[in-house]
Amino acid sequence: MLKKEKAARVDMPQQSADIRRSNFDEVALGYTHEQATLEASRCIQCKAPRCMGGCPVNINIPAFIHLIAEGKTTEAAEKIFETNLLPSICGRVCPQETQCEELCILGKKGDPIAIGRLERFAADAYRAQVKSCRIDDGSGCVKPATGKKAAVIGSGPAGLTAAADLAKMGHTVTIFESLHAPGGVLTYGIPAFRLPKDIVAAEIDDVLSLGVEMKTDYVIGRIKTLNEIADEYDAVFLGTGAGLPNFMGIEGENLNGVYSANEFLTRVNLMKAYQKDADTMIRRGRNVVVVGGGNVAMDAARSALRLGASEVTIVYRRGDAELPARREEIENAKQEGIEFCLLANPQKIIGEYGDGTPQNRRFDVKAVECIKMELGEPDASGRRSPIPINGSEFIIDADVVIMAIGTSPNPLIFIDAAGIEQTKKGTIAVNNDLQTTRENVFAGGDIVTGAATVISAMGAGKKAAKAMNDYMMKN
Ligand code: FAD
Ligand code: SF4
Repeated sequence: MLKKEKAARVDMPQQSADIRRSNFDEVALGYTHEQATLEASRCIQCKAPRCMGGCPVNINIPAFIHLIAEGKTTEAAEKIFETNLLPSICGRVCPQETQCEELCILGKKGDPIAIGRLERFAADAYRAQVKSCRIDDGSGCVKPATGKKAAVIGSGPAGLTAAADLAKMGHTVTIFESLHAPGGVLTYGIPAFRLPKDIVAAEIDDVLSLGVEMKTDYVIGRIKTLNEIADEYDAVFLGTGAGLPNFMGIEGENLNGVYSANEFLTRVNLMKAYQKDADTMIRRGRNVVVVGGGNVAMDAARSALRLGASEVTIVYRRGDAELPARREEIENAKQEGIEFCLLANPQKIIGEYGDGTPQNRRFDVKAVECIKMELGEPDASGRRSPIPINGSEFIIDADVVIMAIGTSPNPLIFIDAAGIEQTKKGTIAVNNDLQTTRENVFAGGDIVTGAATVISAMGAGKKAAKAMNDYMMKN
């Protein structure tokens, strides 16, 4: 028999690329019971488990893996729920390869344990068995009421996690969400083929089962201001993310057929443009160019392909090694036939005039003019800076262009928010306890860090909830 540390990681079955490129069903199909047990049994149960140091929400990783190896799936899921209320989501989208799995001792000589896949397996199996993961089951996980009221603004992973922890501490919690559906990027941004929306809805229901109130269609900055909320509640958590898209500022970005990735993905996911009978307007391009190289660019490109594009090209100004998206998603995109035009940058978007009739007096996207790039010296971020190569311009035909070059915090929240200091980047300034410059207002997730990850937002939600509890119980 192979030594545990030498045994290879168990692969997870997937839909084949030929089939999945034209549907929105989930790509990765999850472990079977046998596969999960086999993978879990590779874990050597380290006495000082390095993997846990890579988990921002502090899951007891060896303990839940041990329970899976013993066939105790329900207990494994309950172990995870002690610190993470969104495990089916995290198991699917967290970049484990740069967090817990990167630190797993087995990765030094072979394959690290597939911690994310096992987390997903335990949580999915639990839900399939008991249908709901209602946490407030009388077992005492929710402490007696404190009489304190907390407001959470934004229902993305940061807000949901802060709300859940505050509710467990015995506080009355209300979430204010500007969209008609909760979940933040989990609902409107990440497509169903990576994160099915019934999974997101079920895990949000688990948070609400703790007694958290959710007010949707409630824009803070419009219906009420941040100052009004801060006066009304004992403490406030700001988790409004970074949903304002950046543009390049090049000629042609206002042509018909140019989208920000946020708008494009919101139309596809939240407004269900991927469903054949949906009446959401979306331009289904034949030749689609996506600008950017992160997870958002991969999601936009793969969604455009599934909407029927015959050619989708990702244009990225650095090389393959520098692509910031998860490697797994880059490989998936390549298998599905997405083209990668690397070391290139758009210079302008070229339009064509409609036929001039009153119905068609508009400018549509026709092509993107790009220039080739080479990598120079490292910049402040430590990455080599892309430099344009003079005279290397070239054209890519396009009828849809999607800009996925980053996002910033939405400024609406700052209307009547005197006393809340912002950084130069427009994010919120906080101290080590995630407290803002207004005493009873705390903040975390993308609104503080700029666009980051689901698990880092959740870690911030947890940290802020603890600090808010300390603050409220002292005041
Ligand atoms: P958000 O998820 O942005 O939630 C903020 C919420 O606040 C939103 O629901 C918004 O509507 C609401 N809001 C904003 N302003 C107001 C207001 N004024 N009043 C009331 N509500 C307001 N991360 C990963 O770890 N893995 C991935 O694979 C991954 N893929 C991604 C794919 C896409 C397309 C995108 C866009 C991001 C992806 N990310 C991924 C990043 C990750 O989703 C974010 O880092 C994370 O969602 C940030 O969480 P948050 O709670 O801070 O903010
Ligand atoms: Fe198991 Fe790896 Fe964690 Fe050790 S570091 S306990 S092998 S998952």
